[in-house]
Amino acid sequence: MMMKSINPATGKEIKAYNEHTKDDVQNAITLAHDTFQKHRLTSFSERKALMMKAADILDSEKEKWGELLTSEMGKTYKSAIVEVEKCALVCRHYADQAEHIMQDEIIETEASSSYVKHLPIGVVLAVMPWNFPFWQVFRFAAPALMAGNVALLKHASNVPGSALAIEEIFNRAGFANGCFQTLLIGSEKVEAILKDDRIRAATLTGSEPAGRSVAATCGSEIKTTVLELGGSDAFIVMPSADMELAIDKAITGRTMNNGQSCIAAKRFIIHADIYEEFKDKMVARFKALKVGNPMDDETDIGPMALKQIRDELYEQVEASVKAGAKLLCGGDVSNGEGYFYTPAILADIPEDAPAYSEELFGPVASLYKVESLDDAIKLANATRFGLGSAIMTQDAKEIEIACRDLEAGSTFVNANVASDPRLPFGGVKSSGYGRELCSDGLLEFVNRKTISIS
Ligand code: NAP
Repeated sequence: MMMKSINPATGKEIKAYNEHTKDDVQNAITLAHDTFQKHRLTSFSERKALMMKAADILDSEKEKWGELLTSEMGKTYKSAIVEVEKCALVCRHYADQAEHIMQDEIIETEASSSYVKHLPIGVVLAVMPWNFPFWQVFRFAAPALMAGNVALLKHASNVPGSALAIEEIFNRAGFANGCFQTLLIGSEKVEAILKDDRIRAATLTGSEPAGRSVAATCGSEIKTTVLELGGSDAFIVMPSADMELAIDKAITGRTMNNGQSCIAAKRFIIHADIYEEFKDKMVARFKALKVGNPMDDETDIGPMALKQIRDELYEQVEASVKAGAKLLCGGDVSNGEGYFYTPAILADIPEDAPAYSEELFGPVASLYKVESLDDAIKLANATRFGLGSAIMTQDAKEIEIACRDLEAGSTFVNANVASDPRLPFGGVKSSGYGRELCSDGLLEFVNRKTISIS
């Protein structure tokens, strides 16, 4: 079987790759397992030197990696460069922090010495999505490798070039062959891998169905999982908000990465006193966005990554309009050969419209009008998702209530939700469980071993 890399801006094939066979996968698991026995005994300073080298490779060749990301999934080249730089940052972060995070935790008891020792657990399978082809992987791999674990990557089938590039970067950095391996396989092969005794844990970033499937298998195998799933983040704007700042954040929040971000602001919940002004300004700004060639510096929004994803978004919007929602702008798919979609805004969305309850994974903003913060929070929480949330307000009491009552893994105030290596990242409800980044991300895949010496 072949795995194809298609440029979504043109619909043309970039390259076809041979999928790995059953034997290839078995060999990779064996190599990973054997390598773990050596990698777990390396010192933090040895691992740090390798991780710093990986960061240098990312930084010094960012143009090459940036072009690869843009060609495989359509993000603008300028945002691809930012993604590569952020990967270098996360490598350096864990290179510096891992030893401190994993230090013994002394707990006084009657024993002469008692403490928690943090030990790596072994081979971790990472199932990753295409939307940030480097970042999603590096944010898992940097802490995992620094902790002494080894990784197998099953990346999304449309980004095989990125998947192999990451393996190349870790190999060139000097990590032992087998510390990080890419498996070019379809999702139907994941279950068998998870059932292999040598795989100790899994992390999945992706859709709810994929998360359920991996979690079900790992549940039956008693294996640790971290799930980073979909989101339908609320972005609340209250009357005291700085309107220009709110509009700026709303535009970047909804359109970054061509609208294909799990933590994108997706549902804009606006207080009635400022609703009309916000709506008019947002529509004007959306209409001014430049959709086109993602390599062009002037482009705001490139194509969507896959034709199927673009067509599904189109159907969700069409069905929402049929159900009674108003399409204020955009929603056009007739822009050339690539998988383009002009950024759209929906308003007056009824509860039975797909836009009300489903994640819209593309450049579509849903507007809602509310009379109070109470109503805004009720609406924000009226979803099965709970990834991030944002509120724009100057009112201290409103900030306190929003931070307490929004059901999400994070609340950002007067800012967009963002991932930062220094802060834990993850969701609640159907957005998943477990945390990435910060010390939490590293500690998800360690054995917190109790030691008691009498
Ligand atoms: P997806 O279809 O779930 O794919 C993600 C990964 O899971 C791919 O590697 C895919 O492989 C694999 N996969 C799919 N079904 C599987 C199954 N039944 N068993 C095992 N693996 C399976 O997700 P997507 O559509 O590419 O990505 C968009 C979704 O990811 C959105 O919902 C978005 O919100 C979410 N996301 C979440 C985060 C977060 O941090 N919370 C970040 C980014 C994206 P194939 O490509 O081979 O199908």
